[in-house]
Amino acid sequence: MNILVGDRVKLKKPHPCGSKEWDVLRIGMDFRLRCCGCGHLVLVPRKLVEKNLRGLTRGGEEIPLSDIAQG
Ligand SMILES: [Zn+2]
Repeated sequence: MNILVGDRVKLKKPHPCGSKEWDVLRIGMDFRLRCCGCGHLVLVPRKLVEKNLRGLTRGGEEIPLSDIAQG
């Protein structure tokens, strides 16, 4: 799956602050994500991000999940 630094991902489970959107700060085995609602920083395993991915925004444009899956 093709997720890049700078992308904004929408995950299935909302953060306790209510936001489902996260900015991608670093990618690798773990993704460093920053909550768009409260700015909280987390490390999430890549597999968990991919499994819970519900949407992706790149450069202000929504990318269809089918496109992401194709890389
Ligand atoms: Zn939050």
